[in-house]
Amino acid sequence: MKNKVKSLLDLSDSEICEILNKYDADSYRLNQINDWVYSKYVKKWQNMVNLPKDLINKLESSITLHPLKEINCSGLGSDTAQKFLFLTSQNNKIESVLMREGSRTTVCISSQSGCAVDCDFCATALMGFKQNLSTGEIVDQVLQLSNRSSSKITNVVFMGMGEPFLNYKKVVESAKIINEKIGLGARRITISTSGIVSKIYLMADERLPFKLAVSLNAPSDEIRKEIMPITITNPINELLKAAVYYYSKLRRFVTFEYVLLDNVNSDEQCAHHLIKLLKNIPCKVNIIPYNEIDSQYKRPKSKVINNFVRILDDAPFTTTIRWSKGTNIDAGCGQLAIRD
Ligand code: SAH
Ligand code: SF4
Repeated sequence: MKNKVKSLLDLSDSEICEILNKYDADSYRLNQINDWVYSKYVKKWQNMVNLPKDLINKLESSITLHPLKEINCSGLGSDTAQKFLFLTSQNNKIESVLMREGSRTTVCISSQSGCAVDCDFCATALMGFKQNLSTGEIVDQVLQLSNRSSSKITNVVFMGMGEPFLNYKKVVESAKIINEKIGLGARRITISTSGIVSKIYLMADERLPFKLAVSLNAPSDEIRKEIMPITITNPINELLKAAVYYYSKLRRFVTFEYVLLDNVNSDEQCAHHLIKLLKNIPCKVNIIPYNEIDSQYKRPKSKVINNFVRILDDAPFTTTIRWSKGTNIDAGCGQLAIRD
């Protein structure tokens, strides 16, 4: 068992108040600390200049401020994407990506180190599963990237390493903190799942205000099973029923993500099949041309991608296409992986 030091970001306000009390500090210090951490994104206790020096010293010696340690950064502040490599308190590696496009600055965060879901086309799957991240470790990615970003973060997507719904409690807690303490609108926070049906129902029942994306990636169980083994326990018809339930409870559309893989799910027949499958489901579709990794899969030619999207233009649902940023530094969707 590793010796874990709890970080400030894993403590509740009342736990922090107890510590302040122990150090004979006034409780208004909590607001000052929260302001430094969640609005000013400070890196060190010593930066909190309106706290008494002796209190800073006591806090510094007893509580870690940031649970993650940055060990590498690829790309420049002027690039459209920058990738950050962090070490967790259990010494596992995770990656987070900062992306800029016009007035939008998006942070793509990890919910686990590695992933156990084992989708055949995804680089993270090759790492296997290492650990669930704590709430603080998830939130810290947003804080540390905010500190490094010249523009304010406008969107957060849980689309980095890991399956968010296999770390449901911490993911929901962290999304609430990003919303309430960092102040990002709930509709600007998207959770992407490979399709854990039971948790889609839970998210609807708990009336969580965040956006939901589901990685569908195929128009039939037959094709989906080949690339996503999770289909065996979470078949497409169950995913669709869950999407309908989600809409009935929240009046919000699920976005189905669909990674286009050459000769697997990208021909005209698949496009027509997809329309038939989703035509009565309240949803949107987001097409992601495959970002190649060291695998058997290839991105289809532009002609095939355009043709697929053109066929979907006639569908009753809205289709968008996502060209991942940062593929030159392996920071695109599904390219995050650390091989020791
Ligand atoms: N585990 C979650 C979130 C992380 S993956 C999920 O699977 O939804 C985020 C998105 O990237 C998913 O839609 C996934 O299907 C897609 N993806 C995975 N590998 C990819 C790759 N190499 N190229 C493009 N998209 C990929
Ligand atoms: Fe895990 Fe998502 Fe990659 Fe599948 S696509 S292995 S669920 S991170």
